[in-house]
Amino acid sequence: MSTNTTPYIGENSPLNKITAFFSALQSSAEEYLFVVDLNSKMILLSDNFMKDFDFPSNMVDDLDNLLMPFIYHEDREIFEEAMRNVWTEDKGKTVKCEFRLLHSNGDYGWVNLSITVGGDEFKDQPEFMCGVIKRLDKIAKADYVTGLLRRSVFYNDLTDELEKPNAHGAVIVITLDNFNVITETYGHKFGDGALRQIAQNITNVLPPDIRLYKLDGYSFGLFMPDAMPEEIEIIFASVQLCMREIRNVEDTIYCTASAGAAFYPNDANDVTTLMRYAEVALEIARQKGRDQITFFEKETYDRWRYDIGMQNTMQNCIARGCEDFFLCYQPQVDAKDGRLLGAEALLRWYDDDGSVVAPMQFIPMLEKSRMIIPVGHWIIENAVIMAKKWQQYMPDFQMSINISLYQLEERMFYPFVEDCIERHQIDPHTITFELTETQNVYDWEFVNKQFSAFHDLGIQIAMDDFGSGYSNLAFLKNFRCNIIKIDRAFIEDILTSNFDQNLIRYVTMLCHSIGMQVVIEGVEDEATYKFLRDECKVDQIQGFYFGYPEMEDVFVKRFKK
Ligand code: C2E
Ligand code: CA
Ligand code: CA
Repeated sequence: MSTNTTPYIGENSPLNKITAFFSALQSSAEEYLFVVDLNSKMILLSDNFMKDFDFPSNMVDDLDNLLMPFIYHEDREIFEEAMRNVWTEDKGKTVKCEFRLLHSNGDYGWVNLSITVGGDEFKDQPEFMCGVIKRLDKIAKADYVTGLLRRSVFYNDLTDELEKPNAHGAVIVITLDNFNVITETYGHKFGDGALRQIAQNITNVLPPDIRLYKLDGYSFGLFMPDAMPEEIEIIFASVQLCMREIRNVEDTIYCTASAGAAFYPNDANDVTTLMRYAEVALEIARQKGRDQITFFEKETYDRWRYDIGMQNTMQNCIARGCEDFFLCYQPQVDAKDGRLLGAEALLRWYDDDGSVVAPMQFIPMLEKSRMIIPVGHWIIENAVIMAKKWQQYMPDFQMSINISLYQLEERMFYPFVEDCIERHQIDPHTITFELTETQNVYDWEFVNKQFSAFHDLGIQIAMDDFGSGYSNLAFLKNFRCNIIKIDRAFIEDILTSNFDQNLIRYVTMLCHSIGMQVVIEGVEDEATYKFLRDECKVDQIQGFYFGYPEMEDVFVKRFKK
């Protein structure tokens, strides 16, 4: 305590009168305190002030000079001016200023200095001056809206927890899904109220010794020593329940929460890594559809990082004009006689190491990041160029191009296709768009209009992977297609499965009765081919039995036979 380091001061010094008071005060204050005896010019410093700046003693005679090297050079004038002004002020007046000070962690941080001149009320002359230096970052420890402690405190507390011997437990981050919608709809004042209520509700469902912290925006953090995954799931279920209560306050308010958790020491035992892992788990929970908790898993994390890496590489590749993409072409033949009718263009990508990556590994990512839009343009452009080229050998050569529904939702897609057809002077009837529904469509009406527009242009529409996902009979009823391509899953066991046999047979009959063609893909052997041809009467076949996806130089040999 201060008494050890405070040197003797004269009995009449005003400092002497206040020493006891000063040492009591400084032990309960986080601020740096100092008192200047205006007669002797001696300055009494609080212990934390002396220690943090390595000053020689609690009693110094030139604070300006001692402190100056710690003040950010551009702010020194501010400090000097405040110290000058204070002499001209009346008793009881306070001079304030803010400047940046070098803290013991090596960073400059803003501080606020207040100095007040005071003295015996019966004397005219001021006797002493008191100063308080507040670290502004420390004041903001609690979140203004929720009253919860903030991220910096969370990090400090978690660091302390991790330093305990044999520490084990979980770090959990929780975020409110779509909370910004509430703020945008009802205003910030209402949003703040709702956020405060949610924070309170979450706090209430946590075990009493567990603290909830406010991280940023709409996210919260906590750590639970000794927690097991099952316990965390139960607690999160309670969090979800209290979200539901918010919804019912006004039936229009709908808010859910997602969470991610990482365990120490198993996943990591330092704050930075643990937090990153918990946040990755949270991101995955959100990607999986929100309103759930995910635990960190190394494999998922590695895959996630790989995806991020691939996303960057692809972004660069697109910026360079899609130069690492290429198309392969798989023959489509007439079921009756095996005659070549056309091909399906299938996308491939050269990874950094030169290996060829299959589309299922990157198309979902292209779709999610909307990079499928520029890549989709590239695919159509190149497939059309190739079709035009091959139509020299075979004028009615049919090119099938895969289109993701994300592309259909893009307003510029139709004009692009129209322009592409015009530029390459190709007959649109020789182009087929294969569509797979891999996503929820938000604007069916618009998508439907797009379908019709392409029909009117003369492009054929094929429904890909029929029988899987959403591409079903209801879809057929609502959308005008020319062709359905039956999912490979129904072909695999066709020689043995009665169900699959009947299904293909009747679906083909149905399609023919409404003027649609049936294409079968995944045909790998002669027996399957013959069955489909003779028993099911399908129209076209695509499959390894008639040809693998091939590069241009290989495919072109088919015309030269
Ligand atoms: P898909 O449109 O159903 O394409 C058919 C897939 O089945 C191709 O796989 C093809 O190589 C494979 N396949 C063809 N015949 C056989 C067979 O007899 N046996 C077996 N086991 N497989 C066969 P690929 O090229 O890996 O493409 C996978 C998926 O990636 C495609 O499924 C399509 O959904 C997507 N895709 C490919 N290229 C593009 C593209 O340019 N744009 C978009 N949006 N998606 C594409
Ligand atoms: Ca396809
Ligand atoms: Ca397919």
